[in-house]
Amino acid sequence: MSATVPASPSGILVEAEDFDSHGGWVVDSQFEAQMGSPYLLAHGLGQPVADATTKVEVGEAGDYEVFVRTRDWAPPHAPGRFALSVNGVRLDTDLGINGDGWSWQPAGRVALPKGEARLALHDLTGFDGRCDAIFFSRDGVAPPNAVDAASRSWRKALRGLPQTPVDGGDYDVVVVGGGISGCAAALTAARLGQTVALVHDRPVLGGNASKEIGLMPRGTQGKLLLELAQRTEDGDLVALSLLQAEPTAQVFLEHRIIAAERQGDRIVSVDAVEAKGGLERRFRGRMFIDTSGVAMLGVLVGAETLFGREARADYDEPYAPEQGDEMHHGNTLFFRTRMADRPVPFPEVPWATEVSKDYANLSGQLTRPGAENGAGPVANANPDNPTFQFSADPTQAWMNQFPATHYWEYGQWLDPYTSGELVRDYLMRALYGTF
Ligand SMILES: Cc1cc2nc3c(=O)[nH]c(=O)nc-3n(C[C@H](O)[C@H](O)[C@H](O)COP(=O)(O)OP(=O)(O)OC[C@H]3O[C@@H](n4cnc5c(N)ncnc54)[C@H](O)[C@@H]3O)c2cc1C
Repeated sequence: MSATVPASPSGILVEAEDFDSHGGWVVDSQFEAQMGSPYLLAHGLGQPVADATTKVEVGEAGDYEVFVRTRDWAPPHAPGRFALSVNGVRLDTDLGINGDGWSWQPAGRVALPKGEARLALHDLTGFDGRCDAIFFSRDGVAPPNAVDAASRSWRKALRGLPQTPVDGGDYDVVVVGGGISGCAAALTAARLGQTVALVHDRPVLGGNASKEIGLMPRGTQGKLLLELAQRTEDGDLVALSLLQAEPTAQVFLEHRIIAAERQGDRIVSVDAVEAKGGLERRFRGRMFIDTSGVAMLGVLVGAETLFGREARADYDEPYAPEQGDEMHHGNTLFFRTRMADRPVPFPEVPWATEVSKDYANLSGQLTRPGAENGAGPVANANPDNPTFQFSADPTQAWMNQFPATHYWEYGQWLDPYTSGELVRDYLMRALYGTF
């Protein structure tokens, strides 16, 4: 696919994920397909995180209009506010207060001398401020905000990136998504002597079993799964080192598949974008395996996919609903808590979702990656509610005996391909409401 390069606006584009130092900010690339780019997130649980800093080269001295692409994630409350400083001078405008949806918030005007300019993002709240990019506009025109080919093309041009993907190689097998199933597929292919590329959008392998999330595979487990699911000291799966030991396997971390090409009914290549730097690579293959967990490759090539629950009659499943519908698993947000030996202050969060006080019960935690349902803090250590029970119903007594892992799920009726950020943010509001 070739995209056209829009002529205007012109200026200097700085992608937040490309900053030299992220300080306490983290790269969030999960919602790139929805909002157009990875971004930096200030996830400080109410404590402002350390500044992200970078240097940029200014080729032409002059006055620049500054735009920052951001989002108020709980409008109109703007819980995630931050500021930008240029060469040590903080711009007056608080950022992250631009209403619902991603947009370029005007941040003021600066005079930039030719040469190096220093930029810093200052988090003001610790509540998930987000910065996608900063644009210094010469002609005062706001940058394109749409999530489309023209916008992508504009960004590539300003970042000096090629408009078409560079060669990512030719493989017997290309595996999309490095969860446990993708790791198993790639390792098996490599051990059969096939050349294989495992293309995964996170910095670590494992998907839901990764050290980022920490679930363990459940149910029947074969030899290969047990081998892959061993963990190192820091909770990471050994999957990466097993794959790196295979001479015919290559792992591409932080590469998100964004496009696929097919000839007739065969896929011939997939395109991935690297989270940092934004370079696109094209991987060609004889066989493609979709282990993205969300049938992403299938969706991209227009394959037939199933969504929601089928009607009972479709597969003769006794537990299926009479009528099929679009209900599906929501997304999950895990959180861990620990009991302090003194009261701990927490900022006022009027924008949070109020949740039942019974959630003061903290029994059961995902204590560390791979150790689900650990004991957690003593449930009845809460002096306000020493006899708390999840259920007083004797037939539900198991609820009070087994520790409950702390996670919430939402989005069962929302489109996971277009609403992921909304679902995550909804769950964060509930998490902060708990505190
Ligand atoms: C709280 C919770 C409880 C669960 N309990 C159970 C249970 O009891 N039993 C059960 O069977 N299952 C359970 N599951 C589901 C289980 O975790 C999944 O079935 C399992 O993770 C599937 O593994 P996977 O490798 O297919 O997918 P995932 O673990 O989702 O891995 C897929 C990976 O692909 C990556 N990816 C997605 N799109 C792209 C792209 N475009 N480009 C590159 N990479 C991409 C994703 O980032 C992800 O890391 C639970 C899940 C959660 C969250």
